[in-house]
Amino acid sequence: MKFCSECAHPVELLVPEGDNRPRYVCAQCATIHYQNPKMVIGSIPIWEEAGEVAVLLCRRAIEPRYGKWTLPGGFMENNETTWAAAIRETQEESGADVELRTLFALLNVPQVHQVHMFYLARLKNLDFCAGEESLEVRLFNHADIPWDELAFPTIRKTLKFFFEDYAKVQAGDGDYGFHTHDIIKRQNRPDF
Ligand code: ZN
Repeated sequence: MKFCSECAHPVELLVPEGDNRPRYVCAQCATIHYQNPKMVIGSIPIWEEAGEVAVLLCRRAIEPRYGKWTLPGGFMENNETTWAAAIRETQEESGADVELRTLFALLNVPQVHQVHMFYLARLKNLDFCAGEESLEVRLFNHADIPWDELAFPTIRKTLKFFFEDYAKVQAGDGDYGFHTHDIIKRQNRPDF
């Protein structure tokens, strides 16, 4: 941040009185610009047929990670619930109509100031098509998941959690759980 969003004066990074960490502060109007993590909300749209499960993935038509595969998801908007965000992002990116089930995964990505959340979702039909932010949308069963071509570590982790739980459900050995994970940046790795 370089300029105050209230008065357009340049901001300074300093620890305000009574605070314990640096904030962008406007020297002109004294506004303190707090910055907090953003929520990324998505779904895991599944289709079950003949004893097999398939997951809907979208190939990104935008940076970052152009051309890589992701679950449908995106930034939550103001005046929106997480539930509505999951349905909207799924519809926008994949054209898919889903019935949301439970909240399945919550992943902290502190280095990029984000929290990612994914809901389990059932595809109502197979009438999906790539939205403006997707090059292609298709169903993958477990054996075909493009693990090396996934866009983000949170997608990989969420899919791993999903297929582990799916195997348990199929074996009559449990139900879908709620999973949390922290993606911590390792040194010398270009991505998070
Ligand atoms: Zn200002």
